[in-house]
Amino acid sequence: MDKKLKLAVIGKPIGHSKSPEIHKHFANQFDAKIEFRKDEVAPETLETWLADFFKDGGKGVSITLPLKEAALNYADEISDRARLASACNVIYAKDEKLFADCTDGFGLIKDLQENIKVSLKDKKILILGAGGAARGIIPSIIEKDPASLKIANRTKSKALFLKEDLEGKLDLKGKSLTFEAGGLSDDFLLADSYDLVINSTSVSTQAGESIGLPKALFSGTKLAYDLFYSAEKTVFMQEAFEKGAEKVSDGWGMLVEQGAESFRLWTNLIPDTSRLLEKPID
Ligand code: NAP
Repeated sequence: MDKKLKLAVIGKPIGHSKSPEIHKHFANQFDAKIEFRKDEVAPETLETWLADFFKDGGKGVSITLPLKEAALNYADEISDRARLASACNVIYAKDEKLFADCTDGFGLIKDLQENIKVSLKDKKILILGAGGAARGIIPSIIEKDPASLKIANRTKSKALFLKEDLEGKLDLKGKSLTFEAGGLSDDFLLADSYDLVINSTSVSTQAGESIGLPKALFSGTKLAYDLFYSAEKTVFMQEAFEKGAEKVSDGWGMLVEQGAESFRLWTNLIPDTSRLLEKPID
């Protein structure tokens, strides 16, 4: 790859993003030359930003909050993964077209199965939250044949809507999946026990904030996984561990693995993620 690849990450806010460092680390493995911009872009300026970037020879963009849904409108082709998620976290140019994809589910499953060594088959899974991240990961989770999947969200109607939407899009025939959605009431949460509890709410972005989950929720939980990543254990991770979860993890591994999949889409190269997984970038 002789030409410098023009890449970027966009969103608002964007200062915290580790994407430039992650992708430079990947590019160095192949001696690939990349230029990686980090631009603050609001929904109102997304269309012009994308048009200018790709007109100027841009190859690929990582898309973060709050642009993941809106960005779908500017792609010529939408992958199945992005269609199911109704959102994309990557857009790239290929054969004079713009392709949108969603690599979040891929990243989570790779982290769970290959890095943390947790199988989802026949497991009982609880997902807290029903926002964009939940949309992105649920189809990939269902593909792994869990015994049950429950979506619990602060705004109950959003959880019910998400479940209904996914049931309309996914082929659940032949799967013996118990699929439920509801609010965060103790009755709903404690009606079952869970092997895996995934926090896909954005509560961890507000330092010190707790969802206020009942203590008994984590009895029997093998892993409590927070999609948010941070140097310190999040409040969700601390509480889950104190309340009985055997193991806790943040979403750094997911971030690295979804980034590796985006890098593959941009370059056709599959980077080694092992060093980044061991040593997060501060
Ligand atoms: P989003 O679309 O804004 O959704 C936020 C969700 O959190 C909603 O379900 C919301 O409930 C819920 N919520 C917010 N504050 C809450 C509180 N105090 N108590 C209970 N529920 C609360 O955000 P998103 O895109 O899904 O992102 C969610 C998280 O995933 C973020 O922390 C993000 O950093 C992380 N993420 C990580 C990766 C990775 O690669 N590791 C990738 C994507 C996202 P309501 O519906 O009631 O408002």
